[in-house]
Amino acid sequence: MVKIGVLSIQGAVSEHIDLLKRCGAVAVPVKKLSDLEGLKGLILPGGESTTIGGLMEKYGLTEAVRARARAGMPVFGTCAGMVLLAREILDGAREQPRLALMDVKVRRNAFGRQRESFEAPVQIKGFDTPVEGVFIRAPLIEEAGPAVEVLASLDEGIVAARQGSLLAVSFHPELTDDLRLHCYFLEMCK
Ligand code: GLN
Repeated sequence: MVKIGVLSIQGAVSEHIDLLKRCGAVAVPVKKLSDLEGLKGLILPGGESTTIGGLMEKYGLTEAVRARARAGMPVFGTCAGMVLLAREILDGAREQPRLALMDVKVRRNAFGRQRESFEAPVQIKGFDTPVEGVFIRAPLIEEAGPAVEVLASLDEGIVAARQGSLLAVSFHPELTDDLRLHCYFLEMCK
């Protein structure tokens, strides 16, 4: 059985764990360094990226996760998790702590006040039918480097992408009953 961790600082942790289990993984919450032992993959849930990034630093998780990811452990960032993966964050705020693993420029809260929270179908490359994207103060990828494969876009920009063993989506797949993105990630971890 493949053991996947879900960073458990903020966000819909139990929903991620539930979907991973339904895909056939062993899924555990990750709160401290020792929880990373034996993981074949890690999900970074949504929430507030400044808070999550700050607490990851404090618990020593930033360096440890970065090192494991560089050694090949797959990481899946959803919403704030996408922000944490990004090499560059474009919102004019001061540098916020993050993993900076993926060659993308991400804008936080990119849909503005009118579209602060909404749902929209998202066609993921390789999926037969769209997933229902739940967007909550969601980020967008505004620029992606050559190693990044765009998996889905809306009119506003890129909302799903992959770079090798790194996967990032702007929305919250854990808030739907659709297993496909979690099962896709599990396949990346095998
Ligand atoms: N706006 C949040 C951030 O930039 C992300 C929101 C979310 O994860 N739902 O951190």
